[in-house]
Amino acid sequence: MTRLHSLVYLLPQLWRTLFTRPITVRYPFAPLELPPYFRGRVVINIDLCRGCGLCVRDCPAFALELERESDTLSPSKGHDKFQLIHYHDRCACCGQCQDVCRYEAIWLTSEYVPAAADRDVLREEFGLLGEFGTREVNHAV
Ligand code: SF4
Ligand code: SF4
Repeated sequence: MTRLHSLVYLLPQLWRTLFTRPITVRYPFAPLELPPYFRGRVVINIDLCRGCGLCVRDCPAFALELERESDTLSPSKGHDKFQLIHYHDRCACCGQCQDVCRYEAIWLTSEYVPAAADRDVLREEFGLLGEFGTREVNHAV
């Protein structure tokens, strides 16, 4: 009797599934539709960055590192010589760095970070300890 009840319940469900689309995504065979607030790859505009280190201090995943040539802080420009390093393999894409930056120099995009066998490839350096405003950007990834 119980088995009959189960069949009465299941058969209409099975019948319905024949005429509905699967709810699983077809990626990578079809483009993946991302939700509007998807948080992906972190990017930094080194020309806007002042080297204040707030994002480094607030990053819960230790995914940011600031290297300074000296500890002198210029009131107008921040640290004169520095580079900001981002570790994609540690990043949790939480968005805290974007929230804390007063200069809109760091933000999250809707791009994926491709997987890599070598962790060094997932280290990205912004700025080369050069003079303020003339830093080069090295996109390692
Ligand atoms: S990205 Fe923003 S918060 Fe981080 S060091 Fe640069 S200016 Fe400061
Ligand atoms: S998104 Fe989060 S984890 Fe990634 S660098 Fe920013 S603060 Fe750190």
